[in-house]
Amino acid sequence: MKNKRKELSKNQKIVLEFIEKNNKPVKAYSILSNVQKKGINAPPQVYRALDKLIEIGKVHRIESQNSFVACKISNCDTPHKTVFSICNSCEIVSEINDPKLFKQLRDFADNDGTKFESYNLEFFGTCKSCVTEQRENVKIK
Ligand SMILES: [Zn+2]
Ligand SMILES: [Zn+2]
Repeated sequence: MKNKRKELSKNQKIVLEFIEKNNKPVKAYSILSNVQKKGINAPPQVYRALDKLIEIGKVHRIESQNSFVACKISNCDTPHKTVFSICNSCEIVSEINDPKLFKQLRDFADNDGTKFESYNLEFFGTCKSCVTEQRENVKIK
C-alpha cells in the first residue's frame, strides 16, 4: 500500500498528528480544542477530517466511547474490520492484531448465512499494568 499520508489535506494532517500524539482515544471536542490554534475552528472541519482518516484506515472510531484512536497496525488496510481491547480501569485502548481471529471472522456468517463486510469489535477487561497495580495495592494494604 502506498503512503497515504501524502494525499492528506492540511486539516487532515493536523487532526491525525494530534490523535497520534495521544496514547488514549480522544473525543472530537478535545481534538477541536487542541487544533484551534492551528486554524481549525469549526466542528465540521474536524468531522470531515475524521471521516477521511477513518475511511483510509489511519484512524479508528471507538464506538463505546465515541472517541478516536490512531491505527496501531501499520498500514491497516481493513479500516472497517477492527478489534480493540479496552481496559475498564485506565481506559487504555489497544488494537488487536490476531491473524487467527481475523481468519475466523472472515469465514464467519450468522445463522441465516449472512457474511459480514464490516465489524468493530470491542473487548473489555483489565490491562496488564492495571492488574499489576491492583496486586501491588493489595500487598500494601
Ligand atoms: Zn488499524
Ligand atoms: Zn489499564
